[in-house]
This record gives sequence, C-alpha cells and structure tokens, in this order.
Amino acid sequence: MATTHKTRMLIIGSGPAGLTAAIYGARAGLQPIVVQGLQPGGQLTITTDVENYPGFRDAIQGPWLVQEMQAQAEHVGTRMIWDTITEVDLSGPPFRATGDSGDVYEADVLIISTGAQAKWLGVEGEQELSGKGVSACATCDGFFFRGKKVVVIGGGNTAVEEALYLTNHSTDVTLIHRRDSLRAERILQERLLAHPNITLLWNKAVERFAGEGVLQRIELVDTVTGERVEEPTDGAFVAIGHAPATELFKGKLELDENGYIVVEPGTPKTAIPGVFACGDVMDHTYRQAVTAAGTGCMAALDAERFLAEHDFAAKHAHAAQ
Ligand code: NDP
Repeated sequence: MATTHKTRMLIIGSGPAGLTAAIYGARAGLQPIVVQGLQPGGQLTITTDVENYPGFRDAIQGPWLVQEMQAQAEHVGTRMIWDTITEVDLSGPPFRATGDSGDVYEADVLIISTGAQAKWLGVEGEQELSGKGVSACATCDGFFFRGKKVVVIGGGNTAVEEALYLTNHSTDVTLIHRRDSLRAERILQERLLAHPNITLLWNKAVERFAGEGVLQRIELVDTVTGERVEEPTDGAFVAIGHAPATELFKGKLELDENGYIVVEPGTPKTAIPGVFACGDVMDHTYRQAVTAAGTGCMAALDAERFLAEHDFAAKHAHAAQ
C-alpha cells in the first residue's frame, strides 16, 4: 500500500552530493530521507580506483567510498529509501515527490542531487573495456596513463581541456574528432593546436575499442572517405558531453541550455526558496566527487538556515494571532 513519508528534508539522489547533504542534515536533527534513484551511489559506483578523494593515502574503490558515505549518513540518522522519483510538485513548502513505488514524500526543504551521466559512444568494446583503458574522466584516470599513449574523443570544450590536461602525464596525446573543425572555444583551440605533444585526427568516428583484457587499439572509420584505420593506444577518454538528470524538473526549475539546474552563483539555491541543487546536476565545470560533496554540504547548511528562518517567521505569525 502506498505510504506518505513526511520529513523536514528530502534529498533526491544518493551520490556524494546527496549523501553529504544527508550527513549534515541528519546531524542538524532534520532526520532526512534520501531517495536513492535508479543508480544508488551514482557515478562513483561505476568507477574503480579513486586517488583524488582526500583522506586516503592509497587508492580506494569508488563503490566502497560511496558505501562508506551511505553508512555514515545512516549512522547519524538518515533514512535511505530505494525508490525512484517520477514526479515532483515544487509549489510548497511542503514540497511533494512521488516515487515509482507509489509512495509520496513530503518535505519542508528539497535537495536535488540527481547527478549527471557521461555520454558514451555506444560502440563495441566500450563498456567491456571501461576501467581497463576506456574512461570518461581524464582528471580521474589520467594519472594511470603516465608515460603512455592516450586518445581523447570529442571536439567540445571538455575534449580539448581533457587533451590538454593529459599532457601532464603523457607526451603522446591524440584528439580524435568526427568533423574537421572543433566546437571548443577559440582560446582552447589555440592552446591545443600549439601544443607539441598533441596530434589531431580529423574526420574519424570510433567503430570499436579493442584489446585482450585491456585496451590496445581503436578501430576508426574516416567520415569523409569511409576508409578504415586502426590507432594503437593504451588509454581512450570519451569526452562527448554529459547529460544531467533533470527530466523531472523541466518546466518547474530554470535549466541552462545543456539541461543543468540554474542556481544563484556561488550557492546551491534555486529560484524557489527551500529548493536546493547540488553536485553534478548543477555543476558542469568541476564534476568531481569532492566538489559534489562540497556543494552537498552547502545545500544542507543553506537548507537549515532556510528552515530556521521559516520556523522563526511561523512562530511569530502564530504569536501575533
Ligand atoms: P559539447 O556538447 O560542447 O561537445 C561534445 C563534442 O562531442 C562535440 O564536439 C561533438 O561533435 C562530439 N560528439 C557528440 N556525440 C558524439 C558521438 N556520438 N561521436 C563522436 N563525437 C561526438 O560537450 P562538452 O562536454 O565539451 O561541453 C558541454 C558544455 O559545458 C558546453 O557548453 C561547454 O562550453 C561547457 N564546458 C565549459 C568548460 C569551460 O568553460 N572551461 C569546460 C567544459 C565544458 P560535433 O562537434 O560534431 O557535434
């Protein structure tokens, strides 16, 4: 039977942003509910070695890190619920969300941390060799290719920034793009073209990632001539964009041209008082577990302040009656 869950703080999404918001919310006595979503734990659950989350001398595993965050959130008083929100009503407070289960969640503040997903090419070998040479994040995994040959696929700002970043680790970086001009900003293009360790392969589409257990080569097709070529490589970074999980909020919250939730600059505040957004759903620039956790903390602190002001105003209105 469908149930209505009432809470002071509802958090939609269970990656580092949502779980950090939960830890802060729970420690402030708000007894938050986290609705976990389709991929509980978010992008960290599909990552292997993590070496850039502070506090751990040796590499840790992404799924382990997020499990620890969840255990910590529960330990301080968070309720985790395995459900997927299919509808939201932001006309509150109270704000209402309805789950796939039929359950309804009612809250005084809403924190949106539904995250984003890297777009993949969808070609043969890509998922099989993911974490074995194929990656969607140079900042996360570039270090593992120190002194090796790497390629980046894409022609936007992300692809160019990733190629430039990878030159910190590798002297043999190739950018592969399906057309003969880049979409990236001019200044980034200039830096890329001037870099002695970056080669460009124009008009090439990836057909297959191949290798015995680990990535060894990429099979490409020329988009103009149809000619097939192979490019040997140790690492491949797919950088063709990210898709924020904001379908639920279309028409209800302001989204930018790429679908990210618009927040007041430097804060997690949306245009609706009491509704906050944190992590990759509002950040297309940094996209790191640690920055997601940071904005999750900010969202919870701002939510607490909102509740305190709200409670104060309500008490005064009551006293004046
Ligand atoms: P973009 O959408 O800007 O670029 C995606 C690139 O991937 C395009 O070059 C596109 O090719 C290519 N691509 C898409 N699908 C495929 C496919 N199936 N096969 C091969 N290639 C494909 O995404 P970004 O992540 O680069 O940027 C997203 C937004 O974030 C942009 O607004 C960008 O400006 C911003 N951003 C800003 C940064 C900054 O200011 N420093 C840093 C990073 C991102 P094609 O060009 O042919 O369509």
